[in-house]
Amino acid sequence: MVMKIFVLAAILAGIYFFFKIKDKKQDEQKYSESNDDVKAVEMKHDAVCGSYVEETTKYKVKLHDKIYYFCSEECKNKFIEEHTKN
Ligand SMILES: [Zn+2]
Repeated sequence: MVMKIFVLAAILAGIYFFFKIKDKKQDEQKYSESNDDVKAVEMKHDAVCGSYVEETTKYKVKLHDKIYYFCSEECKNKFIEEHTKN
């Protein structure tokens, strides 16, 4: 009898997780779909750490008529430091 309850609980848990994962996948799909609309923003290369950042980032520096984009204040400062030496 105890085993029966255990099996039933396991089945219920399985069903619960199945629907939970399904819901999560649908949410992820929705998320990536809505993300496609924002893809119009051009991605720029962070000259310091190498990651990609959106063109609309507030961390950017204009140097020799070229605009450099950064992922963070830290990378921006590092770049300025390196390029304003001497
Ligand atoms: Zn960076």
